[in-house]
Amino acid sequence: MATKILLVEDSDTQLKFLKEGLEASGFEVETATNGSEAYKKVYSCTPDIVVSDIMMPAIDGYHLCRMIKNVEETKKIPVILLTILEKKIDGFWGKKAGAQLFLSKSIDIKELVSNINATVRRYPVPEEYKKALAAKEDLDNSAQTRLNSILNDLLMKSVFSNEFRNLSDFLNYERILVEKLFSLLSSFVEYHAAGIYFASPDDFAQNILYIDTLGRNLSKNLLSDINYDFFRKMEDHKTIKDSKFEVVRMLLGKELDYNFSDLTSKIIIPLVFDKKLIGGICFYTRQEVDYSSFKYFDIMISELLAIFKMKYQYTEKEFMSVLDGLTGLYNRRQFEIGLEQEHNRTKRHPSDFSLAILDIDFFKKVNDTYGHQYGDYVLKTVADLMKQSFRKTDLLYRYGGEELIMIMPETNIEGAIIPVQRLRRMVEEYDFEYNGVKAKVTVSIGLTMNYQKFATAADILKSADDALYEAKEGGRNRVVLHEQ
Ligand code: GH3
Ligand code: MG
Ligand code: MG
Repeated sequence: MATKILLVEDSDTQLKFLKEGLEASGFEVETATNGSEAYKKVYSCTPDIVVSDIMMPAIDGYHLCRMIKNVEETKKIPVILLTILEKKIDGFWGKKAGAQLFLSKSIDIKELVSNINATVRRYPVPEEYKKALAAKEDLDNSAQTRLNSILNDLLMKSVFSNEFRNLSDFLNYERILVEKLFSLLSSFVEYHAAGIYFASPDDFAQNILYIDTLGRNLSKNLLSDINYDFFRKMEDHKTIKDSKFEVVRMLLGKELDYNFSDLTSKIIIPLVFDKKLIGGICFYTRQEVDYSSFKYFDIMISELLAIFKMKYQYTEKEFMSVLDGLTGLYNRRQFEIGLEQEHNRTKRHPSDFSLAILDIDFFKKVNDTYGHQYGDYVLKTVADLMKQSFRKTDLLYRYGGEELIMIMPETNIEGAIIPVQRLRRMVEEYDFEYNGVKAKVTVSIGLTMNYQKFATAADILKSADDALYEAKEGGRNRVVLHEQ
């Protein structure tokens, strides 16, 4: 059976010339003189290949190609675009529209024929595929309507991708990244509660499920049920020792009184890359929602995967290295090692060591008021003041976001309080100024030591953390001792 070509060309003379040449080479040739007619003929003639001019009024060759390539039932038909344009960018654009080949109109017929033959051999259209296509001959939409919808889809995809990619600027600000992700997700996904979880390459890191309730108030029980439900699913991919949740956007006020069982629709999606769990998202809704019918769900997932992957790799890099890039302090991984070492050492050779954890007060507000760069500057400055305030033998770490830790070997709590209070005062008195903008900042500090009763290094950290919490509760800008 002869190879059937659908030849599309708006110039009559060229059409006639090409048709004759191709027929003389043994092809069966159907013709169309514009994109719209051509698109109908793809269905009615089921060609083996479409050879189309690019420059045509209304629906041009690129658009015709996009229409063929973006619909399941026609996309297997190969397309060759012919052009007088010979700029590199036109070839690129043609490829992006899905064309198999992009040829200059100036090539001779023999060359065109051999290119057509090669393309048809490489991309054969199966007979059943053609039959299925012919059965759909009754196009319910005009070509223009179809084109509009395809173009809208393509545009939507690229807008979508862009929205997600813009978030990559916030890879090292987890909390901000989470807020931005929620505000993006909530703008097109139906939910009553949604969760975002970033897995960490560090096995000791807390597993936190960030929850968004769209400003509604959900009971603590309900939120912890969601947390439990989510991490149970994540367990299939990774052993999760403990987890907690944090609510990102919730109003304060009266609680909405519904239960976990009222959330009738849910979807939990683990994000896996390279056989590693790198995170997950979930949506819970009160009424039935068929998430699978959501047109852009696949795109959303692949964009999320890209973001989560970048975030994971970023954290992995931080985790592997020793120093924190912004503050120059030892990083969290080093803290874990350092604390364990100090703890073991003092168990073998009983001696005191103290540990203080510092958290900048209202740091979120600093970021919100002056921008993240300013926040970074403040954080770096506090770290510098910390370096000035402590002895060379003290170990200084950036534990997480804006939390800094000091381990003071051979120092009991009475000795530790001195540099710790000094640091608190230094920050309080410091005139922060960056790009001409002035600000005052304070810090809260929780202080503890290795009292005998603490069995593990983690207990020591927790007692400092409890003291820090008290310092915050007590009004901030203060040091609270954890007393035995
Ligand atoms: P509080 O007094 O209770 O500590 O209030 P806060 O606003 O400091 O509370 P929270 O700990 O919730 O907020 C910390 C914020 O710090 C969240 C995050 O946006 C910001 N942050 C964390 N790491 C960085 C960083 O490296 N740079 C900047 N600029 N901001 C960061
Ligand atoms: Mg904090
Ligand atoms: Mg803080």
